[in-house]
Amino acid sequence: MSSAAWICSSSNMRGLAVLAALLVAAAFCKETFEGHQVLRITAKDEVEIRLLKELSGQEHLQLDFWMDPVAVSLPVDVRVPFHSLQDVRAFLGYHEIHYDIMIQDLQDHLDKEQHEMMRSRVFQPRTTDDYDYSNYHTLSEINSFMDMLVQENPKLVSKLVIGQSYEGRPLNVLKFSTGGTKRPGIWIDTGIHAREWITPASGSWFAKKIVTDYGHDPVLTAILDKLDIFLELVTNPDGYEYTHSSNRMWRKTRRINIGTSCIGVDPNRNWGTAFGGAGSSSNPCSETYRGISAYSEPEVRSIVDFTKSHGNLKSFLTIHSYSQMMLYPYGDTGAPCVDEAELDELAFKAATALEGLYGTKYTYGSTFDTIYQASGVTTDWAYDQGIKYSYTFELRDTGRYGFVLPADQIIPTAQETWLALMVIMEHTKNNPY
Ligand SMILES: [Zn+2]
Repeated sequence: MSSAAWICSSSNMRGLAVLAALLVAAAFCKETFEGHQVLRITAKDEVEIRLLKELSGQEHLQLDFWMDPVAVSLPVDVRVPFHSLQDVRAFLGYHEIHYDIMIQDLQDHLDKEQHEMMRSRVFQPRTTDDYDYSNYHTLSEINSFMDMLVQENPKLVSKLVIGQSYEGRPLNVLKFSTGGTKRPGIWIDTGIHAREWITPASGSWFAKKIVTDYGHDPVLTAILDKLDIFLELVTNPDGYEYTHSSNRMWRKTRRINIGTSCIGVDPNRNWGTAFGGAGSSSNPCSETYRGISAYSEPEVRSIVDFTKSHGNLKSFLTIHSYSQMMLYPYGDTGAPCVDEAELDELAFKAATALEGLYGTKYTYGSTFDTIYQASGVTTDWAYDQGIKYSYTFELRDTGRYGFVLPADQIIPTAQETWLALMVIMEHTKNNPY
């Protein structure tokens, strides 16, 4: 999917600091993004949107659209490999399309991110109190965190394995329950898109917050005395592992697709509601490739099976980044869902609570109206299963850093998002249906 150079030797290295970072990368044959820029393009009319769509079809440029050209009201963010910069700038200049450089050199940000992670790793946490919530973590670190949390809170937390990923990794779900049988449940998943690192990082903070606040915070205690919470922290573990080992910008699963060298399926286009419709791709090389059939991905299928066997989920919250949005059904059609008025009012309350902490502004609405047409997405499927309070979150930021949100924003992001989740969970508790 990407044109970045594969650095497997020590050629073309500049400076000792860069050398050190690249040697680490080289050890794992890691894709580097030296000289890649992320541009924010502001289209002023439909003609420019059409031109940007044409640009996105130029496969030799190997552009990675972080935000697709869909509507004049939304910015277009694109990662441009170094070798394509001149052509892209010339194209935009020729057509007089305005753009700003959001990220001057993507690799600089990734080097800082790695440096922070390595600094954090000097200290091996023995308890979840010692875990560094202000840093990004590998899959194995997150798995250890989950095991520690379960061990420390055996009466409140358990770990379920709901299936196996394409590459055979366990699909772990934390269950927070204070007892009872067949209690209604709330589902939260993070990390379904591999490169959206802020989401499992926030999810880990949520997990610790739940065990800390239960018995102390009356609102959360009341929620957990009536409902179970299920939290899948790394919903796409193969992809997440790959973002650490090989390509930080990977989004999809790691399925090998027959008849092409392009790998992976977009797990947020693989669900059964409106599968195959507009806003998903039949091209395995596309970042929104839907797969050969609905639920073809084990990462998706496992959640479907779990949801059906549970049979009593009342809220389904799937967490992505970036763009600061809260989205409810539908994505494939502009027609409102039956509960739109209630979902819209609840989104307003959740967004207001979130903004109250640090002033972070969210937009909200149906997926179709707010972001773009998308088919086969999680929340449309969940809603059509009868799970009324179904939302997609898009966490920080709005494009300054995009998928490479600095680690010092993890805790504030988690804290503010938690307030929104609490509003939705409390409403779910108070409004049985
Ligand atoms: Zn996503």
